[in-house]
Amino acid sequence: MNRQKILIGGIIVCVAVTVYAVIFKPFAPKFKAPEGGPKGIHVLCTNADCGFEDQHYDASARGRWPRTCPKCGQKTLYMPMRCPHCGELTAEPPTGYDKPSIKCIHCGKEIMLQPPMPQ
Ligand SMILES: [Zn+2]
Ligand SMILES: [Zn+2]
Repeated sequence: MNRQKILIGGIIVCVAVTVYAVIFKPFAPKFKAPEGGPKGIHVLCTNADCGFEDQHYDASARGRWPRTCPKCGQKTLYMPMRCPHCGELTAEPPTGYDKPSIKCIHCGKEIMLQPPMPQ
């Protein structure tokens, strides 16, 4: 009986993880904090004069992206993504994909964003 419960529990967890991965993967941050590791996410200030970067930024506080940068005080704090052109970290659009592309803050080249295609 107990073994069966554990098995069912395991299946539920597997299904939940799969569903979560399928639904949220396109929107999940590229830099996830490891479970049990230091809390926080990777953030990058796009203000060229500032360049603030934090690997363990506490994003639990309420607020919309972009967040206020703790160094320069401007609303230029984004989650970063790696530019496919120059390989540097650039700002990732905060919510969904409302724009087809963004410009890299380093090389200025356009990065095409690929929204999840409805199947
Ligand atoms: Zn800043
Ligand atoms: Zn670039």
